[in-house]
Amino acid sequence: MTTRQDCEALDAQDPLARLRGLFALPAGTIYLDGNSLGVLPAATAARLQDVVTREWGEDLITSWNKAGWMQRPQLVGDKIGRLIGARPGETLAVDSTSINLYKVLSAALEIVKRDAAPGRRVIVSERQNFPTDLYIAESLAAQHDFSLKLVEPDEIAAKIDERLAVLMLTQVNYRSGRVHDMATVTRAAHAAGALTVWDLAHSAGAIAVDLNGAEADFAVGCGYKYLNGGPGAPAFLWVHRRHLDRMDREQLWQPLSGWMGHAAPFEFGSAYRPAAGITRFACGTPSAIALAALDCGVETVLAAEPLGGMAALRRKSLALTNLFIRLVEARCAGHGLELVTPRDESIRGSQVSFARAEGGYAIVQALIERGVIGDFRAPDVLRFGFTPLYLRFVDVWDAVEHLRDVLETAQWREERFNVKAAVT
Ligand SMILES: *Cc1c(COP(=O)(O)O)cnc(C)c1O
Repeated sequence: MTTRQDCEALDAQDPLARLRGLFALPAGTIYLDGNSLGVLPAATAARLQDVVTREWGEDLITSWNKAGWMQRPQLVGDKIGRLIGARPGETLAVDSTSINLYKVLSAALEIVKRDAAPGRRVIVSERQNFPTDLYIAESLAAQHDFSLKLVEPDEIAAKIDERLAVLMLTQVNYRSGRVHDMATVTRAAHAAGALTVWDLAHSAGAIAVDLNGAEADFAVGCGYKYLNGGPGAPAFLWVHRRHLDRMDREQLWQPLSGWMGHAAPFEFGSAYRPAAGITRFACGTPSAIALAALDCGVETVLAAEPLGGMAALRRKSLALTNLFIRLVEARCAGHGLELVTPRDESIRGSQVSFARAEGGYAIVQALIERGVIGDFRAPDVLRFGFTPLYLRFVDVWDAVEHLRDVLETAQWREERFNVKAAVT
């Protein structure tokens, strides 16, 4: 039987415990939603103050050169690249995940059209993929006269055939937390002559990712979740060097051919000529303030490098999610919570989801009032994210005790917890 004292002992032995000091966590809050919006890093406010008052306020337009604003997408992109198995020059921090997906999926379709037989015209994804990914794929399929096929995770292997053009998957499912084996799936897609596009929204900063090790083709990911870049932070995109080299050789573009992806934007020429390498995936002017915040967020994850990096973070993340599952099942038994997340830790992301037939939304609201912040994903999922950078084992214990109390006292039935807000 685990006790709160056992959890305190785990915290005392935790080699990553001091990373919590890198965050401005509000007192009395147990934050289990870093998979949706990461916590504010302690360094961000002062950094933004400096960017705003000095770089912008005093140095004004000279900061594009002097402060290096123009190179931030490549610089921050390469820092993110260290977390996902990228080589320098393959990652760019720009735009939103949705927009980046539009760009890389377009590039993938363009390459397939050049290389493959005309019969290869299917994009496959998961029915439970995050909706924006599916909406973007739907639009591009219509534009390029491809078809989009949505399948269950267990049906993917059967869809990898001579009609498959692009396999577009989110590595860690946002609802269930189930993880796809990137290397195995990519190998199968390549063997069938198809390309892969991976969404790392719930992977980057959460699990160890090795894009080059897997020989993946294209990837995108989110800046405001596990990378702690702040609300609406720039996202990132990644393209394998072999595709970048080929795009250079054949003068291929992505379709959002804005001036920041031009070979010489300040020549102000009237015809588009793509920049070399990853920069051809840029579109408009970089968001200097937001990139400074993202840089601070990425630095919090890189701070784990001397302590074992993503492998150490992954170990702690699994210890936290294993403990949470075990405690919920022991202490909240008989209350109708059903584990949605894989019990097998090798295919579990950094979150735990439980389904409940009734009251899921209200239970989450009652927890939030108590300072335990998780979220609800319709129709019936209570979702809890575990960020090993700032969560303690006692936080897991205390969160479960609150959940138990909300269930035992049926507090969630109170009317105020049953009024839906716009963002759940
Ligand atoms: C969070 C998330 C997004 C977010 O996309 P935005 O363009 O930032 O709104 C996209 N895809 C997945 C899989 C996500 O989890």
